[in-house]
Amino acid sequence: MTHLPDSLAAALDPVEGYAAAFPDHEFALCLTHDVDRPYKGFRSLYYALTDRPSYHLRTALSGENTYWQFESVMALESELGVRSAWYFLDEPNLLREGTPTDWLDPELWVQFLGRYDLTHPELADAIGALDDGGWEVGLHGSIPSHADVERLRVEKDRLERVLGGRVGGGRQHYLRLDGLRTWRRQRAVGLRYDSSLGSGETYGFRHGYAPLRPFDDEFVVFPLTLMEQALPGVSDDTDRAWRECESLLAEAADNDAVMTVLWHPRYFARREFPGYRRLYRALVERALDMGAWVGPPGALYDRLVERGLVPDSTDSTGAADAEPTSETPSGV
Ligand SMILES: [Zn+2]
Repeated sequence: MTHLPDSLAAALDPVEGYAAAFPDHEFALCLTHDVDRPYKGFRSLYYALTDRPSYHLRTALSGENTYWQFESVMALESELGVRSAWYFLDEPNLLREGTPTDWLDPELWVQFLGRYDLTHPELADAIGALDDGGWEVGLHGSIPSHADVERLRVEKDRLERVLGGRVGGGRQHYLRLDGLRTWRRQRAVGLRYDSSLGSGETYGFRHGYAPLRPFDDEFVVFPLTLMEQALPGVSDDTDRAWRECESLLAEAADNDAVMTVLWHPRYFARREFPGYRRLYRALVERALDMGAWVGPPGALYDRLVERGLVPDSTDSTGAADAEPTSETPSGV
């Protein structure tokens, strides 16, 4: 659920001339994956309770884990010749950081049971493999982080330590936005783009075809065009879902759009989510056939900077870091 009033969203300025970032292409398709739950069922409970499972237990747990899709999606995208962005979540650990009141909140328990630890060796290895293979690693800010700049900073720092490099952008968990304030917080911790503006229930170009520039500076918003969960009947009527995808691609091509899609990794599990993997492949193949640029938002952001469509913040080193980190009491 996005908390950005429509009137405010409608007033955001586009990146002028953004299509010059992909001059030889009809439109741009950005591929993203929010890593919410890489463990299925009891494993998530186990990982929530145990910081460092033994090697044998880890091995036993990692067999038959159908939500673990890093390698299979990397293989699929490599076959298609494309790369995507993977956004990692670093949720607060209720056992260590929670208060007794938190324990009474069922929503927090749901979050807690599905959590994972970025520093677990197998997660760190997956992050390293993505980075080595040319995929983008980004931040999937936790629910508390959307309203808490210090929490956001902790999460970004931890992910950067595991990655051994800088993180350029990402998306908030549950698309949670606190007016424009979440973007200010993201900018203050050094993120350069966000892709939380959108919906998990509907899809389309509700926020226009262009990337947006809410602060008239280097910070860019790539609106989310399509989350897989919003498509009708993927498992029982894949043809109908495909027609919706075709129609979005045609609209993108007609309007030089930047279209951003989100497929959660667990939706690539064929048994649990029939149809979604096939649909993703078809979407990417069709976009390539139609002459689209296909890649992660971070790579498109770099193209916007290279062509002077967005100011380069890297040569004013520390500019973002020098921003005040305290919460602004007023404003949206
Ligand atoms: Zn999420």
